[in-house]
Amino acid sequence: MQIIQKSSPNYSDRRGRKIIAIVNHITAGLMPGTLSWLQNPAAKASAHYLVTKAGQIYQLVADDKAAWHAGIVAKPNWPLYDGSNPNYYTLGIEHESLAGEALTEAQYQATLGLHRQLVAKHNIPIDTDHIIGHYRLDSINRKNDPGPGFPWSRLLDNLKGDEDLTPVKIIVDGKPLTGGHIVDSTSYAPVRALAEALGAKVGWDPKTSTVIIEGRK
Ligand SMILES: [Zn+2]
Repeated sequence: MQIIQKSSPNYSDRRGRKIIAIVNHITAGLMPGTLSWLQNPAAKASAHYLVTKAGQIYQLVADDKAAWHAGIVAKPNWPLYDGSNPNYYTLGIEHESLAGEALTEAQYQATLGLHRQLVAKHNIPIDTDHIIGHYRLDSINRKNDPGPGFPWSRLLDNLKGDEDLTPVKIIVDGKPLTGGHIVDSTSYAPVRALAEALGAKVGWDPKTSTVIIEGRK
């Protein structure tokens, strides 16, 4: 999974707090303006990640910093809210989307991969209290963020399904590959990581959801 590094000045320190949850958002704006806005000091807003309709993932703020994505709390509906600024103990993912729109398939696959990586890295439980929407923190001004088009049950089901997979060790030319698993006596590997480890170039066509492997000698 490719994450394109960008930077935003809109963040603070985590004040020693541990990351306990992921907050999902929609931008209510489109690329490229929505990316540059999150990098603009005047916005006083940011997120750790932005996932575009084309399935690209940008990182704007490092995980160990507090991005300014959910600092204003109004009539929250989140049992883990402890009265302090949620930015200090959450990660924020923005999705390029206008109000009421569904994610594109490429965007869904990208955010699924990103969620997979983040729950593993930060030990975040896969449930509706630890993977939430902005509306849970501000039910007044953000009640449609990320809105009815966000695929909550598909996302949680896909993430939970991963927990049931049996991992398998894969070594390519002496180097371990992560993410391998077994289903019905067949071993599966992440196709990009595997193909690149074998020296091939991997392309992705978001329009047709096709992986293209080329250039292997
Ligand atoms: Zn939001």
